[in-house]
Amino acid sequence: MSIVVQKYGGTSVGTPEKIKDVAKKVIRKKMEGHQVVVIVSAMGKSTDRLTELASQVSEYPNSREMDVLLTTGEQVSISLLAMALWDQGMPAISFTGSQLNIKTTSIHQKARILDIDVGKIHQELAKDKVVVVAGFQGVGKDQELTTLGRGGSDTSAVALAAKLRASCEIYTDVDGIYTMDPRKLKKAKKLSVITSEEMMEMASLGAGVLHHRSVELAHKFRVPLYVASAFDEVAGTRIVNGGSEEMEESVVTGMTSSHSDIQVTLMYLPANMNSLRRIFSEMAEKEVNVDMISQMTASQNRMHVSFTVPREDTAVAREMMEAWKVEDDVIQWEINENIVKMSIVGLGMRSHSGVAGKVFDLLAANNIEIKMITTSEINLSWVIDAKDEDKAIQVIGDGFELTDI
Ligand code: ADP
Ligand code: ASP
Ligand code: MG
Repeated sequence: MSIVVQKYGGTSVGTPEKIKDVAKKVIRKKMEGHQVVVIVSAMGKSTDRLTELASQVSEYPNSREMDVLLTTGEQVSISLLAMALWDQGMPAISFTGSQLNIKTTSIHQKARILDIDVGKIHQELAKDKVVVVAGFQGVGKDQELTTLGRGGSDTSAVALAAKLRASCEIYTDVDGIYTMDPRKLKKAKKLSVITSEEMMEMASLGAGVLHHRSVELAHKFRVPLYVASAFDEVAGTRIVNGGSEEMEESVVTGMTSSHSDIQVTLMYLPANMNSLRRIFSEMAEKEVNVDMISQMTASQNRMHVSFTVPREDTAVAREMMEAWKVEDDVIQWEINENIVKMSIVGLGMRSHSGVAGKVFDLLAANNIEIKMITTSEINLSWVIDAKDEDKAIQVIGDGFELTDI
């Protein structure tokens, strides 16, 4: 009998009524003759509420205790879903991450799954039960509770599917993957298929519909992944490995925009490689991910360097710059928090030139200034002022045919 892993996100289990509806959907799958393992997220916005609670007792909540707190969210929803399943006549059993010994690295709030012991799951499936598992959580060294980063339940689902050699269905509050977040671009087109390479790129560039690690795992372990609505029966999106005949021949498949970075500019740095090396190595030591970089000559021996870092690392960046300024008071620095990083992604960009030129033309024609730009094999990213975001999304969306007319 084939095993199917289904994952339901926060909105999909946001109320008792919705949990009962999810139970019905799970039972339908079971009745089709599959063994079913269900991963659930915390109800509605409860992870946000827990985070808010923490901030009311501490300005910088202890990371370990945050994990003890946040893992309670999923514990509520798994138990309620299992109860709803029993109530509808379906034997079920729920497990937390620690009960299943979902082994992770020990970095609190950013843990990565290392291994899952699926013996217990197989035992329960053999008893004809639906197994309900808490997403987003695991255990690190010494049985310490860990979480996988916001949105991490998708990754729990795919990791379990990989281990169980199952397919994975992600049910959420949109009915599939669109060319762009439909909340930001109303006329975005729905994709019936997308390659895992493109989806990985979109997820890591800010398309919050899937946790980026989940797509990486699906790609690596060849887990068939499907994203669809938890509420409607319409067909969703398949994420496939490699190209597919059904795929439209387009250069650009999707677009993202992300507020998760800030721009840091250091001015009048000594113009040598050592300055650049120092930025990278000091940031790396503090586990801060430096992303886009641009450099400008200021004079013969001084230069300006701009780079982006995750918004949550603003304080770390500020500290580093203050330390530099103490050593060399010619240096000036500034932080710009009002930026947006936009990206377009497409396998077709490998073989088509002229994409960057077109982006420049479209943005320039609309008086939108590009602050930084980078390209990789299948994406092009640029940073603009946050005030220009809506206009830029519309212009690029229309220009690259990412919208329905
Ligand atoms: P869940 O709680 O089910 O995990 P999320 O809020 O994490 O749901 O993800 C679903 C949301 O992702 C959608 O409501 C949508 O606004 C957003 N989203 C971002 N990019 C895309 C995209 N390219 N296609 C579809 N939805 C997207
Ligand atoms: N509950 C967690 C969050 O809100 C995990 C998830 O939803 O995937 O981030
Ligand atoms: Mg999510």
